Amino acid sequence: MVPTIFWSRGITLKDNPVIIAGGGIGGLATALTLHQIGVPCVVYEAVREMRPLGVGINMQPNAVRELYDLGVTQADLDRVGLPAREWALVGLNGNDIYSEPRGLLAGYNWPQYAVHRGQLHMLLHDKLVERAGPDAVRLGHRVSGYRKNAASGVTALIERADGSSLETAGALLVGADGIHSAVRAQMHPAQPPIHWGGALMWRGVTWGKPIRTGASFVGLGTHRQRMVFYPISPPDPRTGLSMINWIAEVTLDNSEGWKQSGWFRQVAIADFAHHFDGWVWDWLDVPALLRGADHAFENPMIDRDPIPTWQDGPVVLMGDAAHPMYPTGSNGGSQAIVDARVLGAAIVEHGVTPAALEAFDKKLCGPIGQVVLRNRGAGPFGLLNMVDERCGGTFDNIDDVIPPKERADFMAGYKAAAGFAIEALNKAPRTIPDAARARAPQNA
Ligand SMILES: Cc1cc2nc3c(=O)[nH]c(=O)nc-3n(C[C@H](O)[C@H](O)[C@H](O)COP(=O)(O)OP(=O)(O)OC[C@H]3O[C@@H](n4cnc5c(N)ncnc54)[C@H](O)[C@@H]3O)c2cc1C
Repeated sequence: MVPTIFWSRGITLKDNPVIIAGGGIGGLATALTLHQIGVPCVVYEAVREMRPLGVGINMQPNAVRELYDLGVTQADLDRVGLPAREWALVGLNGNDIYSEPRGLLAGYNWPQYAVHRGQLHMLLHDKLVERAGPDAVRLGHRVSGYRKNAASGVTALIERADGSSLETAGALLVGADGIHSAVRAQMHPAQPPIHWGGALMWRGVTWGKPIRTGASFVGLGTHRQRMVFYPISPPDPRTGLSMINWIAEVTLDNSEGWKQSGWFRQVAIADFAHHFDGWVWDWLDVPALLRGADHAFENPMIDRDPIPTWQDGPVVLMGDAAHPMYPTGSNGGSQAIVDARVLGAAIVEHGVTPAALEAFDKKLCGPIGQVVLRNRGAGPFGLLNMVDERCGGTFDNIDDVIPPKERADFMAGYKAAAGFAIEALNKAPRTIPDAARARAPQNA
């Protein structure tokens, strides 16, 4: 039961909820957080039906910690993925460039999970509906813009899937509407177009035998052409096979920009598998891995330039709407969850007010903009660039190319910037203290 918070004379926050545009992982984590701290909210989601879309995604320990604090249990996560054990980069000759343990094995207090994005999404959706009721998510409602109200609050402009439209008032509007965010487009009308650096990805899932630790993330190849793969399910006890998520990637000439229509489309595996002909070792057969998938999706690796602020009075951006980033650091989904929790903490401290949004913006907008740029510069895959530059990608012993300390320092720098440095995370207090509730506004 959500406690009633008095917002202004005669009006409760229940009449004036926080409006969330977009019911992806970020929007749902925000709604679960607001529900936990006693703030009524409604999610307006453009799609007519929630379906388990997407393939693999990583939940870093900083995000798993927040999921646990939200009451998403280890057993829940075990149903949609598995704890990652290792992150490794391997050269084209099959020699290791870098490897490190991940999650609990690395010393974090929380595991890292490799999960099926669609199943995690449905898990968060089901938890929200179970806790807040079916009206918490309105499907087939696309937020097209907003109007800041004269006294306080905001009106969201909504187009329904049946062609009708709706205006609804709320205390705050959270733009969690992804990389093509309408809320962001209104907030920053002069923002540059989507940025594409030339990398093209094909994604799919194939049942296969997990290698190395059985739960290893492997990046194989060079800076301009690589395969990334990792299991997102434990092995089936009958067959020994896991669902292996893979991303095949090449870098093309981008001087003319992205010419295809749309950013995400299903393609035939034969359309791209030829880029990986001959990628066969005694421990891995890439052509067979690609051919084994039922279907594949093509999408260019895109992001947006960081913006100076995510806030416009009672409106704020979060998740991919705020900081769409290359997936090189495996932290887009994790950061969306952390955003939700930092936003919740600001609302606990400052109430359901623009001041809370300002505190959230101050804390994250600058540093996460830097993570976007780091990921654009290859993120942790930057080690592959260094190998390319120093030896053209072929080596016998990686120590002769990049000494161990330089490799370790490079990765430590990345992890610190992305918020998953081990000691800092383990020592950090809960983002939202147990049983905390949003403060009622002082001057209501
Ligand atoms: C269908 C889909 C599949 C994906 N698959 C993968 C994957 O396989 N691997 C991976 O690493 N990442 C994937 N991603 C991206 C990943 O989920 C995000 O980078 C990350 O989780 C951050 O989530 P987000 O909630 O901020 O944004 P998103 O996940 O993009 O969610 C945004 C949500 O807002 C909705 N929406 C968009 N515009 C509006 C609007 N104007 N009004 C209302 N609702 C709106 C969208 O339908 C979507 O549900 C996928 C995203 C989507 C939408």
